[in-house]
Amino acid sequence: MKAKVTEHKKLRDEIISAQEYAGNIIRSMTESLIVLSPEGNIETVNAATCALLGYEEKEIIGQPVGKIVAEEEEEEEEEEEVLFKGSGIEDLIKKGSIRNVEKTYLSKDGTKIPVLFSGSVMRDDDGKIQGIVCLAQDITERKRAEEALQSSEANLRRVITKNADGIIIVDQDGVVRFANPAAGSLFGRKEEELTGEVFGFPIEAGEKTELDIVRKDRETAIAEMRVAETKWEGETTYLASLRDITERKRVEEELRELDRMKSEFISSISHELRTPLHSIKGFTKLILQGKVPDPGIQKEFLTTIDKQSEHLGRLIDSLLDMSRLESGRFQIQKQRLSIKDIIHETVESFYSLASEKDTVIDEDIPATLPEIEADGERVRQVMINLLSNAVKFSNDGSSVTVKGEVNGSELLVQVIDRGIGIPEEAMQHLFERFYRAKDTMARGGAGLGLYISKQIIEAHGGRIWVRSKVGEGSTFSFTLPLGQAGGSRE
Ligand code: ADP
Repeated sequence: MKAKVTEHKKLRDEIISAQEYAGNIIRSMTESLIVLSPEGNIETVNAATCALLGYEEKEIIGQPVGKIVAEEEEEEEEEEEVLFKGSGIEDLIKKGSIRNVEKTYLSKDGTKIPVLFSGSVMRDDDGKIQGIVCLAQDITERKRAEEALQSSEANLRRVITKNADGIIIVDQDGVVRFANPAAGSLFGRKEEELTGEVFGFPIEAGEKTELDIVRKDRETAIAEMRVAETKWEGETTYLASLRDITERKRVEEELRELDRMKSEFISSISHELRTPLHSIKGFTKLILQGKVPDPGIQKEFLTTIDKQSEHLGRLIDSLLDMSRLESGRFQIQKQRLSIKDIIHETVESFYSLASEKDTVIDEDIPATLPEIEADGERVRQVMINLLSNAVKFSNDGSSVTVKGEVNGSELLVQVIDRGIGIPEEAMQHLFERFYRAKDTMARGGAGLGLYISKQIIEAHGGRIWVRSKVGEGSTFSFTLPLGQAGGSRE
């Protein structure tokens, strides 16, 4: 009898210590443990659950599970599981167990706590539900970090989208994962079209490279690319920042060309100045040394000296004009004048030069051409430039026509030659500083005349342009506004 009692006590001690053991395990767990009754009421909680939710054990024991598990949205209602409605536990009952799903627990003060939830349904041998064990791990920190990452990616996307430089995210396989609108316009495409395509340019972090991009419209754009490694949608990718430097390159090229033209100009202007100076010096010396006794020949030499000094004077005037134009000191002084007179006087001054080349200059100007308000000296300068070019670029025995007429509210003047003409590629540059068409360089000139003429005409509010065909001749036209001074001249 005594032995039986001892055995019974031993068994009871073993059960108690097993319970204590289990209790110790549950208490020492850092995860939250909740055991629910088959009806869905809280039967057991561990200390971690109380700490997580801010309840004392006695406050939640016996409470329905809905008190601490937040309702899940879009849960289907099922009549028989009405006790667990909304908590998502019904799903657990259906499946028997679930592992590592995200759920939300509700703390005493109403705070929503994201948890990683696992649970299993305990059933007896007959399959009847005995209880439900719920384990949950607080993932607030992980969630916060994920959200921070998501929002920093969203921020990055926003900043990139608005960036003035083209930005392209390229993955390790060289495929475009994202392109901003600026990148789209650099490639002449919609940015969405670029996504998913192979980028096609070698990419290396830290490098600064220049890309020649052939756009969809076949135009070429030049971009400066910098590459940095970045995370995109959790992957290691490359962020290629593309600055459109097409315009900068064009301007640099233009400046280089201008520089080249300037140095060419310096050498040609020295030559242009020296040639008349040589002849002036030579002829003067001959006369001074008494080597030209014949007064007729003397007069011829003196005429040449006179012409050459005039030419020299004109060259120097052009240089002064250019420097005035560049420094913004170029001015025109308008007065009422007869354009017909100016044209006639200029044509007359070219008679001897033209006759040397057996060239005829015709005037086709109506007697009733109105007077205008203009700077007479400057308009004369334009006429001299156009006429000297017309004669210079005409072949011997040719003819030049000067036309004047009223065209609407403007006066139109044209200098028409039947000379060598101007090649297509030279036309657009004619009115630029120092420009001289390649084929005509041997005929001399500083490449300033048309540039200055254009400035003069535009300062009057007029326009100047050219039409030409190689081998057939050129027509230079300019307009001057008639303005209020415009009136018929008898
Ligand atoms: P330049 O003093 O060199 O003549 P311009 O500015 O007057 O300078 O002319 C620039 C260039 O335009 C000339 O060098 C020449 O190549 C071309 N050009 C000007 N007028 C004519 C013309 N009537 N026929 C053919 N080429 C012309």
